[in-house]
Order: sequence, then C-alpha cells, then structure tokens
Amino acid sequence: MTLQKGRRDAIAVGQCLCGKVQVEIGVPARWAWHDHSHASRRAHGAAYATYVGSWRSRFRITKGARGVTRFRDEAGDVRGFCARCGTPILYERKRSPQMVNLPRALFDSRTGREPLYHIGMGESPEWAYRGEKLRPLKGYPGVLWTGPRRRKRAVHELFLEP
Ligand SMILES: [Zn+2]
Repeated sequence: MTLQKGRRDAIAVGQCLCGKVQVEIGVPARWAWHDHSHASRRAHGAAYATYVGSWRSRFRITKGARGVTRFRDEAGDVRGFCARCGTPILYERKRSPQMVNLPRALFDSRTGREPLYHIGMGESPEWAYRGEKLRPLKGYPGVLWTGPRRRKRAVHELFLEP
C-alpha cells in the first residue's frame, strides 16, 4: 500500500443533530473505544458511548463554537454539548489535557480508528445489549428481540472469561 499524497491533511467532519455545531479531527484519530462507565452512560443517555480520541492540536470546532455548553464534573472532566439540540460534542479528561474525545457517532465518515477497546465494563448495566441472539418479533416488521427469557448472567461472566 502506498501513502497517498496529502494524506497527512485528511480530516473527518462531524456535527451535532441540529447541525449548529461542526467539528473536525485529523485522520487517523489517536484511538477509539467503547465507554461503559456510569458517567458516560448518563451523559449520553445511552447504554454506552463510543468515542474517538484526537490530539487537541488536530481538533477544531469549525462551526457553532459559542453554541457548545460545557459541564465540569467533580473530577474536573469537562463534557461539552450543543446548547440547541443537546448532542454530546466533546469529553475532555483532566488527566489527559492534550486529548479531546468525541462521540464516534458525530462522524459519518471514517476516522481512521476502529473502537477496539472497552472501558468501564464492570459498570455496564444488566439491561445493556450483550450480543444475544436476536430473532424477528412476529407482527412488528423491523423489530428484533431476544425472546421471552433473556439469560441472566453477570457481566464478568460474559466479558472476562478466558
Ligand atoms: Zn445541535
């Protein structure tokens, strides 16, 4: 494989739901992961959040910077979101000031990193989807379900077995 000329300048463009805020990161991103921690689950209102981490120097808010509202938690970590539509935009951890973490879902295009890592798995709730086999729900096209009896297994049994 040959490197394409100008590849160093490749970017990925992301935006919030309403489009008021747009961001750019250099491609490839530094890394990517699934965050199952309690704090990220709450901040996203979702079972878990998937992030791409970018060097701060390769990150820019290209539109709507003044529309990003920030919340600093007790640990000193900062989360920014669109003040208009509520989409999480960034997550800055106090212990990694050179990095800016962005929800992977902001980007439609590739970011150059696959989310291969899982953080905070021990905090994952029992209601999160665990990759169980799914089957169609009769009478509801497009709806899949796990069946009447979902197997109850502890998180560590599912993810930490050798
Ligand atoms: Zn928005």
